[in-house]
Amino acid sequence: MHMSNTDYNTFEDIPDFALSEAVEEVFGQYNLKLNHNGTEYNFVCPHCGDLEKTPNKRKAYVYTDKWLYTCFKCCSPTHIMYYFKDNNPDVYQKLLFYQYGKNKKTNNSSRKKQENPFINLPFKDGELVSLYDDNELSKQALQVCIDRNINKRIYDRWYVCLKDSKFFDKDSFGNIIIDPITHKPIGNKYNSRIIIPYYKFGGKWNQFDARAIDKNNTLRYLNFSGVSRDMYNIDFINFNKPFYLLEGTIDSLFIHNAASFGGAQHLKPFLEKYPKILENKENCTVIWDNDETGITEMFKTVKLGLNWFDWDGVVPNKNNIGKIIKDINNAVLYTDLFPLDDKGFIKKEYIEYRSRSADMGEYYLLMKYGNKIKEKYIDKCNKYKNNTKQNSIGVLF
Ligand SMILES: [Zn+2]
Repeated sequence: MHMSNTDYNTFEDIPDFALSEAVEEVFGQYNLKLNHNGTEYNFVCPHCGDLEKTPNKRKAYVYTDKWLYTCFKCCSPTHIMYYFKDNNPDVYQKLLFYQYGKNKKTNNSSRKKQENPFINLPFKDGELVSLYDDNELSKQALQVCIDRNINKRIYDRWYVCLKDSKFFDKDSFGNIIIDPITHKPIGNKYNSRIIIPYYKFGGKWNQFDARAIDKNNTLRYLNFSGVSRDMYNIDFINFNKPFYLLEGTIDSLFIHNAASFGGAQHLKPFLEKYPKILENKENCTVIWDNDETGITEMFKTVKLGLNWFDWDGVVPNKNNIGKIIKDINNAVLYTDLFPLDDKGFIKKEYIEYRSRSADMGEYYLLMKYGNKIKEKYIDKCNKYKNNTKQNSIGVLF
């Protein structure tokens, strides 16, 4: 094993997603596991472990904060790049490309110093519990995830926000602070919701979705307003391969190499914040929800050169006749067209099959949806006309 005290900064320009992919590629066959918060990979050592006899003895680790490789039995910590150099020279060469090649500045935002989880987050000690916690809310939350067919490895890392007045903000005398405008106590705002953290590389998070557990709650989602909006999973996107942008976080969980932006109005600012998206637009497909807004927005993103997703022929299976397929989660639940792999992702080919190139897309979409859009505008015009007539008779329209 190559040991080196060389300054690890040499490899600083290699993006986390590339190292992460390389680790998964090289050690995937050795019972590789990524821990709960993404800080360490653990696997059977390829050099001293015995995969056949002791597949669960994972003595080798890769720590993702500094990308150190170590095996507790046979070697001391070394940068993963030195490991690859000695054992997987092709992988090493490929990664070096990031160092010196054209992708040099790819997404290294996650290397900036980040705060600890929960710092700046609007939760108090004990307010968040796991979905496996022994309380009624957690049980309901777990059921929501199971009903949505979300993979366990994902909701393992989610939380439930408990509902209790002990989490209200208090002044130095211990009195509950009342908001002068709403006249309600401050704090415990996200109670009775599933907290879906927006994990950054290394397992930290400071943005989240808070999804109502009670399906009768009309405010289905709350986004944390204490920090600027972000895209879910954007740190983990490999822009050099097909990648997908979706409106909903939950929908994006079912697709490999996907991020979500949480609604049409947010996409544009994110395209500015993450220029890699448009720089690699030929790899990018936007999967709009299968509804009226989605069709309108699809035209706009196709004009930007982003590929589009064809919902044509996505209909419920015979057990779900009458169900409306408005998004990817519905499509997973109610059709037979999107089978999942063992990690809970839709098998790649079933998504790629419906991804359509932006080239000529505008014309194709006009042919496909042109009338629908025309109808919508005629409808709007008529409404406007009628209102105008009622409100100001005599004004020519
Ligand atoms: Zn070993």
